[in-house]
Amino acid sequence: MNESERKTDMEEKQDEGEGPVKFPFPFPPYPIQEDFMKHLYEALDGGKIGIFESPTGTGKSLSLICGALKWLTDHEKQKQVELEALMEQQQSEAHEQSNGTTQSSGAPDWVMEFESKRDQMEKTTKLMEEREKKLKREAKLDKLKNDLRQRSSFKRKRLSTTDETVGLDKELDDKDKRQGAGDAPPGEEDDVDDHLVADYHSDGDSAESEEDEEKDEIDEPEEITKIFYCSRTHSQLSQFVHEVQKSPYHDDVKVVTLGSRQNLCINEAVKKLRSMTLINDRCLEMQSKKKPAAKKDDDSTTKPKRKRSKQSLKACPHFSQGQLSLYKDRVAVEVMDMEQLGKVGKELKACPYYGTRYAVPNAQLVVLPYNILLHKSTRKACRINLKGNIVIIDEAHNLIETICNVHSVEVTGAQLCRAHSQLSQYMQKFKSRLLAKNLMYIKQLLQILSSWVRQLGGRTDSAPDSQKLSGSGSTSVFTINNFLFETQMDNINLFKLQRYCQKSQISRKLNGFVERYQPLSVKVHQPEKPKGSGMTQFLHQISKRDQAPSQNQPPTPDKSGDDETHVFSSPLMHIEGFLLALTNANKDGRVVVNKKELVSQCSLRFQLLNPAVHFTDVVKEARAIIVAGGTMQPVEDFKHQLFVCTGVQPERILEFSCGHVIPPEHLLPISLSKGPTGLELDFTYQHRDLPQMMDEVGRILVNISNIVPGGVVCFFPSYDYEKQIYQYWESHGVLTRLGHRKKIYREPRKANQVDQVLGQYSATIEKACSGCTLSGLNGAMLFCVVGGKMSEGINFSDNLGRCIVMVGLPYANIKSPELKEKMDYLNANMPQINGRSAGQVHYDNLCMKAVNQSIGRAIRHKGDYASMLLLDHRYTRPSIRSKLPAWISERLQVASRFGPAFASINKFFVDKRPDKLE
Ligand code: SF4
Repeated sequence: MNESERKTDMEEKQDEGEGPVKFPFPFPPYPIQEDFMKHLYEALDGGKIGIFESPTGTGKSLSLICGALKWLTDHEKQKQVELEALMEQQQSEAHEQSNGTTQSSGAPDWVMEFESKRDQMEKTTKLMEEREKKLKREAKLDKLKNDLRQRSSFKRKRLSTTDETVGLDKELDDKDKRQGAGDAPPGEEDDVDDHLVADYHSDGDSAESEEDEEKDEIDEPEEITKIFYCSRTHSQLSQFVHEVQKSPYHDDVKVVTLGSRQNLCINEAVKKLRSMTLINDRCLEMQSKKKPAAKKDDDSTTKPKRKRSKQSLKACPHFSQGQLSLYKDRVAVEVMDMEQLGKVGKELKACPYYGTRYAVPNAQLVVLPYNILLHKSTRKACRINLKGNIVIIDEAHNLIETICNVHSVEVTGAQLCRAHSQLSQYMQKFKSRLLAKNLMYIKQLLQILSSWVRQLGGRTDSAPDSQKLSGSGSTSVFTINNFLFETQMDNINLFKLQRYCQKSQISRKLNGFVERYQPLSVKVHQPEKPKGSGMTQFLHQISKRDQAPSQNQPPTPDKSGDDETHVFSSPLMHIEGFLLALTNANKDGRVVVNKKELVSQCSLRFQLLNPAVHFTDVVKEARAIIVAGGTMQPVEDFKHQLFVCTGVQPERILEFSCGHVIPPEHLLPISLSKGPTGLELDFTYQHRDLPQMMDEVGRILVNISNIVPGGVVCFFPSYDYEKQIYQYWESHGVLTRLGHRKKIYREPRKANQVDQVLGQYSATIEKACSGCTLSGLNGAMLFCVVGGKMSEGINFSDNLGRCIVMVGLPYANIKSPELKEKMDYLNANMPQINGRSAGQVHYDNLCMKAVNQSIGRAIRHKGDYASMLLLDHRYTRPSIRSKLPAWISERLQVASRFGPAFASINKFFVDKRPDKLE
């Protein structure tokens, strides 16, 4: 029976008269939560792609957890029932055979029957073995859980600590002693050979050989259906884990959270390096010290023949099979957030970063950041197999942009020159000892680096920060093929070169070489940190050294943390990322060449145009995918750019948008076309700078500041426009008039000042709302920028945001070469949507997503209330209104004049006065 023929569990239960599925929930769920869980269950069971929208404050996380885990529990039960039935059938057939009750047919039939029975037998044996394994493992984990409970109960009773060291701790201590016994004396100094790339003979190695190398010795368990839940930030992931801990499933579900080394490393010497790049580099470097070079067959590409000498940097003491195995089991018996994972790691002296990765095969719910899910090699390194499993992507409103950013990469002129300088000196040093193939590829890399620097208008023989370019800067965009042609790379096999870089680990070798020889001979120019080069970080993460060692290494002092130059010494790593990006199909990306005043400031940026290329595997492998968020509208982008163009049939896509928990009278959204003097509100580029337009917005704000209590948050389309209008109002007395009722605050440009401004803003409101001010102030007003630091992740709940004003429509600059390329790409590759070109729809959607994120900052819980004022006549257009979240558009009042809008707002807040509510 295939997936589409199978009735969902929910349908079957309803057919059987069992009534609707009941979802365990920590308290009686709201109807919208029930509705959410039912649709989620249906989507998971039917193998669908679900686009779920649930505004903040409606308990989305809990609904996701309880809906998805209910499905998982039912699914596991169903699997168990099927297994029991199959085994029963097999046993009865075997019994019949032994009693001679089955008929043998002629030879061909008999052969077929035999084969089919053999297959069935094999399947049953496998299933039985799996069941056995599972039961054994469950028993082991139950024992561990009981031990832990007993230990914490002992602690509560304040029993002697000597009792507590029996068992696990003792086992660990014994292990430590055993490891300690094997301590090797500290090495003296790196041998120069450590920096020499291994001999490179052939390009023909299959990808499988690399995979083999990555296998470790920890047991792979039976197949477990998994839910992969991912979100954007570590704090969002931690919040989700806390919700799981509060859910009815907290005691039964096996959860593991994956994070970066920066979050999970417990080696103090490494952790204190602080920068992600430094921590990754140092950890990988330490792992590499404990492993002999890989042995290969005769046809292998790497043949480490040279003798390696003593090593100065020792392996991390928290990285050993035994400790990691204990950690893996410990993680399986308790739901832990990132902090708890670190604590247990310290307790067990096991690395949480690797320990959590080893725990993935046993987990039912894997909680992970976007970056791991969206990058194939990182998924592989983290042992993530999506096949037949569920993927839930939360906070997914910017998923397309995130995928594009993760796979876009930028290299600066400074990095190119520095890589060239380092690599040429590396070649000089080892020239006589490198095999011809190695030399050939290193020369190719040098040739490419020179050519790219020339493309930027510079030379590699002098420092990039001393080379000035004429003109004030320019941006040009190339297709991949044109860029390769322009830079004379069209005759170079990029796939082979990229494979060479990966297998020889040239950038890491170069890094070690620079670290050792930099004070003596290598000229290092500090590069600028590249913007948005997520790929570089992945290259660190996916290093094939992310594997278990062949033997435990003793804990020894290392020299971590003494050398900040590490962060500046891996330019080739960035360049490898750029090379990899150039292997994309010609139509799927563009190369943007940015020229600035100095060569060091110029850059080459690879821009991914087609996010589907890197999402297709996820769509194909996962059983069902849920993309969820507070404001998912407009959803056309998701449907077309991520799903329809990866071959998903429209009927497989399920859209669900739930209402808000607040009563209708708690929200007043108004779109306003004209200001108090009757001037049409038009904030297009042509009109928004007109003095009368800025005056009109000023009048609107002065008027509403009299009737809106508490905080008014006013969003402007850009920092420049906010600055311009602020200066205008300052010189025309508008700010003074506003200041009679509201204290004015402005969003700072520096991220580290945001907390301070927010603190002052909320303190003013608190004071004003509690009547502690005699100055006549009734609250504060905050000027923010769409897409700025306060338009996402900050909640203006209750008095902090009683009115959100959106000035104009924050359309991106249509003249931006990157945006133009993206729109052209969509127009050429996507069908029209509702009679409009895909590029134009994308342009509108970018703008409306930003609007929705900003206005969604207000109303954060059931008892909250707020008004929203959308200033621009274009908000009255159906095509724009339809892109607002349903819970806003359903209540939107379209006002063509200011008077009635003002009256509505006034009434809204009068009705909310405590005396009225009573
Ligand atoms: S193995 Fe773990 S604890 Fe040790 S340095 Fe690496 S990340 Fe840190």
